[in-house]
Amino acid sequence: MDFAHSPKTLDYLQRLRDFLAANVAPRAAEYRRQNAANAGADWTRWRVPAVMQEWKTQARAAGLWNLFLPDAEHGAGLSTLEYAPLAEMMGRNEYTAEIFNCNAPDTGNMEVLHHFGSDAQKQQWLAPLLAGEIRSVFCMTEPDVASSDATNMQATIREDGDALVLDGRKWWSTGIGHPDCKLAIFMGLSHPVGEPHSRHGMVLVPMDAPGVHIERMLPTYGTFDPPHGHGEVVFDKVRVPRDNLLLGPGKGFAIAQGRLGPGRIHHCMRAIGAAEHALELMITRGLARVAFGKPILHLGGNLERVADARIAIEQARLLTLYAAWKIDAVGVRNAMAEISAIKVVAPNMLQTIVDQAIQMHGGAGVSEDVPLTGLFALARALRLADGPDEVHRAMVARVELAKYAPAKHGGLAEAGRK
Ligand SMILES: Cc1cc2nc3c(=O)[nH]c(=O)nc-3n(C[C@H](O)[C@H](O)[C@H](O)COP(=O)(O)OP(=O)(O)OC[C@H]3O[C@@H](n4cnc5c(N)ncnc54)[C@H](O)[C@@H]3O)c2cc1C
Repeated sequence: MDFAHSPKTLDYLQRLRDFLAANVAPRAAEYRRQNAANAGADWTRWRVPAVMQEWKTQARAAGLWNLFLPDAEHGAGLSTLEYAPLAEMMGRNEYTAEIFNCNAPDTGNMEVLHHFGSDAQKQQWLAPLLAGEIRSVFCMTEPDVASSDATNMQATIREDGDALVLDGRKWWSTGIGHPDCKLAIFMGLSHPVGEPHSRHGMVLVPMDAPGVHIERMLPTYGTFDPPHGHGEVVFDKVRVPRDNLLLGPGKGFAIAQGRLGPGRIHHCMRAIGAAEHALELMITRGLARVAFGKPILHLGGNLERVADARIAIEQARLLTLYAAWKIDAVGVRNAMAEISAIKVVAPNMLQTIVDQAIQMHGGAGVSEDVPLTGLFALARALRLADGPDEVHRAMVARVELAKYAPAKHGGLAEAGRK
């Protein structure tokens, strides 16, 4: 395997770097100031910061748009491996990926529509999403059941003539507070008997359908993550045409597997960029500030912390590139252990490094004067958001133990050859 940047990646990297330096960095404070006006739980008052809209227009004109999508007609035609360094660069700040229409959860939802949508569904929903005109939300998790086991989901999809009727309560629906959020992908129980992974379906729901009630936004560490938000939403006898079903009855898990594969890797790629940013802030601060007659960085075990951070970032990057390479080479289904492994490693690595960067800043670290608290909240939430660490560890263990199943791989001797 070869992880060297392809000529296409090198070209995009340079253009991305130039774009961020010329357009985004000089206006980062302006973005944060404008977004601060969205503070508070009342999402109905949230507005997209004007500067974000300007950046998006500029990025699209510059051809830095939909870089995540491997399809060359609608995206940049980059492989997962080729996209990794670009996502890393976008990950330095929480808001940067959206500038390039590369933010979660829209990327995962666009991938779903791209792979599983009918022509009509693509025309209605994928086209405006690819154009960045609307936003979307993925509604799987429910407050009343342990959602790390997705077979638990109990919201329902009922057939009624040529309509589907949806009922249930969802929460942690990321992006549902965004003023442009027009589409929900709803996962619900459609066939309660039968094999547990064939009981659920996924349905496209316009956010203005009667019966969709957003009840509140959930804060993470006290902030509401505007203008996206994480909402609790009730679906109360919501009727949509039968054609809004994705792929087919009972296909929810088949879709989810496709959706969460590359999407998980995108989070990890961005986490590495965020960790680079945190380390940079840690070193800059540690060199500039003096205590007990020395730059803080040279006190106690701080230099070792810097070294450990560099080592951890490089390890995580290599594992991410390996998972990306494996997705490209053998597909998501055959790369589940690698996807799960990096999903454990990257957010934990980010959490540790941001925590140390905060410590190096003293009191400033927990203020809003440096962008570390946002990165910390992101890292901590990422350890849950695509499924808890433990579930990913269980997947790695399952794949590992499968190598020892005599019937499948010829037993231990075969396993040893991996
Ligand atoms: C910021 C954020 C954004 C999110 N965005 C979305 C979104 O857009 N759409 C969506 O549908 N959901 C979203 N989620 C929800 C997320 O996917 C769930 O929180 C997650 O799957 C865990 O489900 P749960 O909260 O019900 O925890 P539970 O299932 O109740 O699990 C609680 C704990 O049990 C333990 N546990 C579970 N399984 C195992 C195991 N096999 N072994 C050992 N311990 C275990 C873990 O410690 C786990 O944290 C988001 C969550 C967060 C925090």
